[in-house]
Amino acid sequence: MKRVENKVVVVTGGALGIGRATCLLLAKEGAKVAITDLLDKEGQELADKITKSGGTVKFWHLDVTNEKEVEKVYGNVVKEFGKLDATVNNAGIAGADKPTDELTENEWDTVMNVNVKGVFFCTKHAIPHMRKSGGGSIINLSSIYGLIGAGDIPHYHASKGAVRLMSKNDALIYAKDNIRVNSVHPGFIWTPLVDELGKNNPGFRKQLDSRHPIGHIGEPIDIAYGILYLVSDESKFVTGSELVIDGGYTCQ
Ligand code: NAP
Repeated sequence: MKRVENKVVVVTGGALGIGRATCLLLAKEGAKVAITDLLDKEGQELADKITKSGGTVKFWHLDVTNEKEVEKVYGNVVKEFGKLDATVNNAGIAGADKPTDELTENEWDTVMNVNVKGVFFCTKHAIPHMRKSGGGSIINLSSIYGLIGAGDIPHYHASKGAVRLMSKNDALIYAKDNIRVNSVHPGFIWTPLVDELGKNNPGFRKQLDSRHPIGHIGEPIDIAYGILYLVSDESKFVTGSELVIDGGYTCQ
């Protein structure tokens, strides 16, 4: 028996980075995975790759800031796979790295819309399907930046702090429905998001490595294994918790 055999899981922002590694691992462990993303080409390529290796997946275009689209895609996933067991609210953006007094309202809203409102919409439209399935697991990607300040990207910190507390409060609201809600807090993980943050700084990778007591930044698979645990029934008593996977970053 595989670890998440026959569980139906939606992954947002599933085409790249942490989301991609999560889709690959969940499918390998027996889940039926709805890969969703803005990136149609990358998402479809990933779906084809997993299908070829014997996994059960389908790609849907989904912008998590569009409530109508979120509602429709969750409905279509349930039509396709018959139920919903888990949603991994992974889609996220970093935004412009500027101090608070230089940020525009638009820059603030853009990050909040994806990182906070996106989690709200996906949670809202996952809940009715999970109730019908008799329970479920909601996994929200926060960050070490949702736990401590690092003195940069203020709107990203605000968004990830919000996700942390939304997760705890939703854990209380939905415990009676057997729906668990947890947040995951990665340290720096080498993905297109982090690559973009360091694009004008050649020493960026080394600087990041040195900030993690374990000596290096993480890989997407390090986070995917944590998410796999939270999707699986191995974590059936875990709700409202913060799974920190950061090479010791926040111990300091
Ligand atoms: P990534 O490599 O940029 O992948 C994120 C994916 O989400 C991309 O495919 C992106 O598409 C997609 N996306 C962006 N906006 C979206 C929207 N409105 N609707 C649907 N999909 C959207 O990011 P990652 O590094 O894997 O990060 C995944 C999550 O982990 C994020 O929530 C991030 O904040 C969190 N996290 C990451 C790190 C890290 O070091 N990498 C650390 C802590 C937390 P586009 O490329 O078109 O934008």
